[in-house]
Amino acid sequence: MQYSVSPIGIVHSCFKEKFAIPRQPQLAPAARGVLELLPPFNDPAAVAGLEQVSHVWLLFLFHQALEDKPRLKVRPPRLGGNASIGVFASRATHRPNGIGQSVVKLDGIEPGRLLLSGIDLLDGTPVLDIKPYVPYADSLPSARNAIAEAPPAAIAVHWSTEARLQAEDHARRLGEPLVELIEQCLAQDPRPAYQQPTPERRYGVHFWDVQVRWHYPVAGQICVLEVAPA
Ligand code: SAM
Repeated sequence: MQYSVSPIGIVHSCFKEKFAIPRQPQLAPAARGVLELLPPFNDPAAVAGLEQVSHVWLLFLFHQALEDKPRLKVRPPRLGGNASIGVFASRATHRPNGIGQSVVKLDGIEPGRLLLSGIDLLDGTPVLDIKPYVPYADSLPSARNAIAEAPPAAIAVHWSTEARLQAEDHARRLGEPLVELIEQCLAQDPRPAYQQPTPERRYGVHFWDVQVRWHYPVAGQICVLEVAPA
């Protein structure tokens, strides 16, 4: 039995690579993007009424993690990358049918485009469907998940004077909250849990059209060193 699906839109996101994207939406409110709707859904009729909604569910394809061989167990980064759990007990990207789901903030509606923030989606992500968030049904105060009880602990993010000025300049040029984006994403500590970086080791990531470089001067602290054109 096979079904086929096709994208109704493509996300143009601040995240140009998988590294340093938060593990879930809402962890970086400054993470913004545009969902470009594809014909025939770029017709205003398809989003009529959506202006009454603050948040939407996006169902999308993990297009850069699709695999032919289904996995039954995965090793979520949240568990340090060592412990494995069943694929259906996790929100891992490697999963049957490669379908992801995120609740994101709907900041605006323009012809053929939705303006979004709080996203955890890679640039170019194909979106399969959009559904309005329904607070009375989708928010369950009594729900529990002992594997992911709370957001990951945030670590301190400091700046070199030069990097901070560079980030502010690029933020003005882009018209984007770049300083906040960098702080919110790096506070999640994107480094793989097994790496114990020395202060000399440099890390980097591509947000919008800039390359952000940082290091760990002491354990548990990040210092942003440079924000330069990518
Ligand atoms: N909120 C979604 C969910 O629960 O289905 C995604 C959770 S998944 C753990 C989040 C990670 O997916 C991000 O850190 C990012 O690296 C990765 N990711 C986002 N968009 C992707 C894409 N289009 N292809 C592959 N990986 C992607």
